[in-house]
Amino acid sequence: MTLLTFRFAPSPNGELHLGHAYSALLNQQMAARAGGRLLLRIEDIDIARCTPEFEAGIFHDLKWLGLGWEEPVRRQSEHFAEYRAVLDRLIAEELVYPAFMSRGEIRAFIAETGGRDWPRDPDGVPLYPSLDKALSMKERKRRIAENIPFAWRLDVEAATAHMSGALSWTEFTDETMAATHSVEARPQAWGDVIVARRDIPTSYHLAVVVDDALQGVSHVVRGQDLYAATGVQRLLQELLGLSPPRYFHHRLILGPDGRKLSKSLKDTGLAALRHAGMAPQDVRRLVGL
Ligand code: GLU
Repeated sequence: MTLLTFRFAPSPNGELHLGHAYSALLNQQMAARAGGRLLLRIEDIDIARCTPEFEAGIFHDLKWLGLGWEEPVRRQSEHFAEYRAVLDRLIAEELVYPAFMSRGEIRAFIAETGGRDWPRDPDGVPLYPSLDKALSMKERKRRIAENIPFAWRLDVEAATAHMSGALSWTEFTDETMAATHSVEARPQAWGDVIVARRDIPTSYHLAVVVDDALQGVSHVVRGQDLYAATGVQRLLQELLGLSPPRYFHHRLILGPDGRKLSKSLKDTGLAALRHAGMAPQDVRRLVGL
């Protein structure tokens, strides 16, 4: 029997908080109960916001919590060439297109055309107006030659046209992994998502599906805030011929105001709690583990 493989995949663009602690400890607990492996992956593709200091903080906090993981740790910023190769496949298959509109242009276009009625993605961000899809190859080449910045966006219409049946994923009903149900993937809800950003040959979605497959991750255990994003990731897996892991999207740890914790909420940061004298078992109790 192959070993079940779990992973905790934080981004070093801020300090870990109670929500991360819950996710990391839950992965540890589920992997231990299944007799499986636990990987740690550093998701640092955003080279402008991720820092070595935040990364060092992650290692420190996780060790303090008592988390153990397999070495070597995969650091996404060291694998841009691999993501580039996968992106090149999507370019060759014409499943992505260069998108030239700047944030300001997107905003102005939407204000002129749809205003408040313009469709939004599950995170509330207006969908990209897919105007660039209509550009001729000649015009695309001209703009690229002129160094006009662009991102590669998924042509979600072309991509879903490839699918024979409905796209779905397998979700565990709870952390005991006793039962699963099938969830319909709705990548269209995100419109033409970014697959590679202006400055780097990947995006969160692309790197995550490539790495989960490459690292043999069988069980993705992560926060409920990424539930809808799984739809896009399932589509990318289908397009790239990658076999999908199973998913468990866990409850989120909320702040005292009932809102999702953010990296700027210093009072629930693990380092701050530690400095205030808290022990790892207090953190476990706080997150209900
Ligand atoms: N790196 C992502 C984050 O920090 C998590 C990615 C995932 O678990 O799929 O939110």
